[in-house]
Order: sequence, then structure tokens, then C-alpha cells
Amino acid sequence: MTPLERLRNHSNEFRKEIIGLASNVYGAVGFAASNVYMIIADGGVIIVDTTESTKAAENVLAAFRKITALPVRSIIYTHSHRDHISGAEIFAGSGDPEIIASHRFASDLVAVDSKKPLPNKALADRTRRQFGIGLAFPDERVNLGCGPGDRPLEGLGAGFMPPTTRVHEDRINRNVCGVELELVHAPGETPDHLVVWDDGNGILICGDNFYKSFPNLYAIRGTRYRDYDAWADSLDLLLSFDAEILAPGHSRPVVGADKVRGVLTDYRDAIRHVVAETVAGLDRGEGPDELADKIALPASLADKPHLQEFYGKISWSVRAYCAGTLGWFDGNPTNLDRLSPRQEAGRMIALAGGEAALFDTALTAHRTGDHQWSLELLDRLLCVDAENTEYRLLKAACLRARADEEINATARNYYLVAAAEI
Ligand SMILES: [Zn+2]
Repeated sequence: MTPLERLRNHSNEFRKEIIGLASNVYGAVGFAASNVYMIIADGGVIIVDTTESTKAAENVLAAFRKITALPVRSIIYTHSHRDHISGAEIFAGSGDPEIIASHRFASDLVAVDSKKPLPNKALADRTRRQFGIGLAFPDERVNLGCGPGDRPLEGLGAGFMPPTTRVHEDRINRNVCGVELELVHAPGETPDHLVVWDDGNGILICGDNFYKSFPNLYAIRGTRYRDYDAWADSLDLLLSFDAEILAPGHSRPVVGADKVRGVLTDYRDAIRHVVAETVAGLDRGEGPDELADKIALPASLADKPHLQEFYGKISWSVRAYCAGTLGWFDGNPTNLDRLSPRQEAGRMIALAGGEAALFDTALTAHRTGDHQWSLELLDRLLCVDAENTEYRLLKAACLRARADEEINATARNYYLVAAAEI
């Protein structure tokens, strides 16, 4: 199977469906980047997570309304990522639900393609590329790695409501609208994760601490360091519930205690493996470039369907661990004060025999399928002649070719948006 075929198959995790998990618990998968869960309680419903847009929230609510007309009494945010918090106004309607989140809840709203002021243009631009905003579906943007490729974007980021209740305890039993739930602080993909344990049904709603992909330990849109050890510790915590059903923030629920135990154990072991191998390599004096190139999952984990690199990627995780724990310096004193990119490019071009010779090598590399090498050569040429049409078009062609070599949706989307920008 080609990488593109594998990524297309992964879209099956996001096929649109309302999934009944218990007589009073339902999940909406495939309506938005993230899943929404509904717990039917006494005289009202509890909503866990609310999607990234008001339009997606409307679609989910309409589907839930075919099951019950009870009003939304309570909304729980598993964490502050925008794809979980931006449809709250739709679920609240004219009501006044309690909105529950962790005391560490801190929105990192990124206003992609909305009229709101951009909090950080670089982050917004990179987020647009990561999620393939503007790419054609399904030929270019296949999926998001974490969600379907064809979600609605109307009202993106527009329906957020701030929490009214912040949970300060590590774990607390709460009667929410007559349903006994345990709310548990479990830092993972974000430090503010609050997971929901429904003991009566054996259902664990775990936010983004698990989904069916190698974990997104580093997001290429740009993130602060995500504490890998804390995430692995939280997976141990999630294992302690012995859940029958694991209801993740992305991808379809996992059903059956053995399966749940298996996927959580694999996830934890994969994160711990990346940490251990990276630390060992750094201790040997190796740097992020070498370690990103060589670290892989052990054979016992490498083929697991829930650890394929559709969303997170091992090499990026290795680099982010190095940067997150040691900062930008790779330990090689050559790199303490490098030549400027322009100086380096000029000297390399001269060494290669001039611009025409280097371009010729880049073109041959592209034609023989060595697209990454071609890109690295072209970047030198573009460094000294940024507007050169030949260089730019060849770079765009190489980026498109690299996209088809990727199973990682965020890399694919990033390559294709960058090519379109050229
Ligand atoms: Zn998410």
C-alpha cells in the first residue's frame, strides 16, 4: 500500500456516526476535528467537548436531538485546544449550563480564517498549513490525522464559552445532573487535561491523551514542550480505571477491557521508549539530527495500528524532546554561531560550481525521486535568489512529491499548502 492509500484508509476512523456506548451515553465521531460525547442525565444532558466550529456543533446537536430533546445542563471541556471548546454556545442554546474545566484550563485559541484578531500570526499561518485549510478535499487534504478532511469551517473558533466551574482537585467525584462522574486531572497532550470516568458504565472519556495514531508529542503548527513523562504517567492513571470503553477525543472509541488495556499500555510504552532512547543518545553525545534519523519504535510496537504516524511523528518527537529539555543548542560547538544562511548558501553554491550546476543537480534529484535532497539544494539557491521562478516551481513540485510520500496528515497538508503558497 502506498503512503497515500494508508492515509486514505485512516479516514475510516473518522467516518461520520453517532455511536451508542451505553443506554445513556453517545459519541459523535466524524462531524468535526474532535469527538463530542453526550451523557443523558436526570432532566438534562451532559456534553463533553464541543468541536471547533459552531456549524459542526449544530450538526452534532441536531443528531443528538434525534435521541433526546432534554436540555444541555452541563458542558465539560477535556482540555483547552480549540477543537474541543468552540461550539459551546450552540450546545448551551438559550440555557445557562455549568461549564466545567480543569483549574489549569488556559485557552490557546488560534483564529485560523476567522475575523478575530490573530493572537500570533506565525502560529496561525502554521496552523492553517498543518490542517490543510484551503486545500481541495479529498484529493489534496485527505484527513487531519486526528479528524475528517471534510469538516465544516463556518463559525471556526466562534462559539467558545469560558468555564464557570474549575476543578482544583486531582480527582473528584461529582454528581452532575444526577449522574455520578469522577473528574480526574491527567496532564498529557496538554497540561490542563480533565478526563471523565463514568464508573456506572465503565466508560473513560480521555480527551486527547489517547487517539489512534502515534501521539502528537510535537505539533508542527508550533507548540511549547509537551511533558512526555507526565503524559506517560497519565496513561498509567488511565489504566488504573480498568475501563470497558475508552472514548477518545479523536478517532473511534475502543471497546472491550482487554483492548483498552492493550492500547493504553502500548501508548505509554511508545512514549517511554522515545524518552529513553533520546536520553540514551544524548548521553552518548549525539544530537537531535542523528537521533531523529535513527530512533524508531521496537518491533513489538512498530506495527500496532494505533501507533502509526498519521498525526504525531517519532522523529519530530525526538527533536522536540531535545529542544524541550535542553533547548535549541545541539551540543556541537560548530553550531554555536553558524554562518548566516545567505553566507552558507553562497559558499556552497560556489563549491558546487555555480547556480546553474547546482540547479541542474536539484532537477536531476527531483526527476530521480530524491525530492528531499532537491529541496535542500533548492533552499540554497532560493536563499540567494528568492524570486527565481524556476527555483520556486521546482520547489513546489518537490513539496507536492514529498506530500505523497507521507502517511502523516499534518506533514502532507503542510507540504501542499506551502506548495500552493509558492
Ligand atoms: Zn483535540
